[in-house]
This record gives sequence, structure tokens and C-alpha cells, in this order.
Amino acid sequence: MSLIEITEVRKSFGTTEVLKGINLDVEAGEVIAIIGKSGSGKSTLLRCINGLETITDGSISVAGAQLLDDEVHLKALRLKVGMIFQQFNLFPHLTVGGNVMLSQTVVKKTPKAEAEATARKMLERVGLGHRFDAYPDELSGGQQQRVAIARALAMQPTALLCDEITSALDPELVAEVLAVVRELAAEGMTLLMVTHEMKFARDVCSRVVFMHQGRVHEIGLPEDVFANPQTPELKQFLGVS
Ligand code: ADP
Ligand code: MG
Repeated sequence: MSLIEITEVRKSFGTTEVLKGINLDVEAGEVIAIIGKSGSGKSTLLRCINGLETITDGSISVAGAQLLDDEVHLKALRLKVGMIFQQFNLFPHLTVGGNVMLSQTVVKKTPKAEAEATARKMLERVGLGHRFDAYPDELSGGQQQRVAIARALAMQPTALLCDEITSALDPELVAEVLAVVRELAAEGMTLLMVTHEMKFARDVCSRVVFMHQGRVHEIGLPEDVFANPQTPELKQFLGVS
């Protein structure tokens, strides 16, 4: 059994089908890069995996539990699968520590002292242990995104979904965020990341998924996908011919 099993998943918005039968099994500890043109369905796929969108057909299971469309299951799923977005979405009126504690105390009902200890530990992990009492607007974009990663980690997720988490950052801030992701990968975290950082995908990921028009168009080891693309669509996307 794989950690995440995605079987014949379809997703429509109205009459437009944006996921057209996705099959993907992700093993525990795998780091998967999802690449593809804008509009190919990458974000929708991640949003389906953590239950932010309801799938139209097919099935998704995480750690053996099927994603069913009811509140109890969705809540359990979101506890298991963390998600980080392009926009950091930190609460500006809460401190860094407060942001990392919030979902623990609200969603998990973790006692405050324990939530604080976890928050400090996770902030330490992303190199921001010393900024517990700072406010988000006192931090750089790269630091804010690292806080968002700490916030996701504080929920002790089984897997982490990252949707273009460096795309809103100034170029000089990208590396510090990727360094944190690289460390998580080395520690064995299961990661699915939509990314434009091809070098990172090549270096760190176990497999690369190329999405095109709502389908997994090519999938393989980074060295194969990047060095030996099979389809005209992937060749065009990578700018090779
Ligand atoms: P990507 O992340 O690869 O750029 P998305 O998953 O965001 O692609 O979008 C895939 C397609 O689904 C696009 O055509 C987009 O317009 C459409 N789409 C995404 N979300 C919605 C929505 N909530 N309602 C209607 N259409 C949507
Ligand atoms: Mg997207």
C-alpha cells in the first residue's frame, strides 16, 4: 500500500473537466515534483489531495484512509496532509509563535503549553527559533514562508503539499526556503511540490510528474524526465527540441 493513492481522479468545475483521470501512487518518503504549464491542473490536484476540493470521480486515499466527502473525514485528512501556498497567509496581528500555535490549539485542541513547545521546536527547525515574538511584517518574505512551513509542520503531517511556495519570493530569498524543503526531504518527509525550480526538482526529487491538460502526461525519474523527455509537449515545456 502506498502512502497516497490517487486512482482515476476526475474533477470538473461546472462543465469544464480540469482533471481527466489522474493515477498516481506516492510512497512514504518520496519527494515528487509536479511540473507543467499554467492551467494544466497542478493546483487543483493538490487541493483535491487535501480535501480543499471535492473530486468528481475516482478515489484518493491517504495512509490507507479513503478521502470521503464528509466533514469528519475531511477534518481527519487535513490533519494528516499539510499544505503550503504561494502566499504565506500568516495572520498579521499574531506573532510568529502565535501563528504557528494557532491551528494546533484551534483545530487539534492541543493545550497551550504543548502547542508553544511544538511551535518553538518547529521554528527552530526552519531556522527561526529566535523570531518567536516577532510579527510577520517584521520578517522578509523568505522568513514568512519558513514560518508557514513551521506552521504546517506543527500539525505533524504525514505528507506536505507545496504549491509554488517560492514563486512570490524575490529571487535572493528562494534559496533559504528551498534549503528548508531540502532538509525536510532528507529527513524523510513525503512531499508533493508544484514547482518551477527545475534544478531543485532534478537534485532533490525522487520522481517528476509532468501534467498537461489535466492528465499525467509523463512521469519518471528526474534524470529521465529532464534529459530524455518523450513527448512533444514536455519537450516544448522544457524548451528542448
Ligand atoms: P495550474 O495550477 O496548473 O495552473 P489549476 O489547477 O489552477 O492549474 O487550474 C486548472 C484549470 O481549472 C484552469 O483552467 C482553471 O481556470 C480551472 N479552475 C481552477 N479552479 C477553478 C474554480 N474554482 N472554478 C472554475 N475553474 C477553476
Ligand atoms: Mg497553480
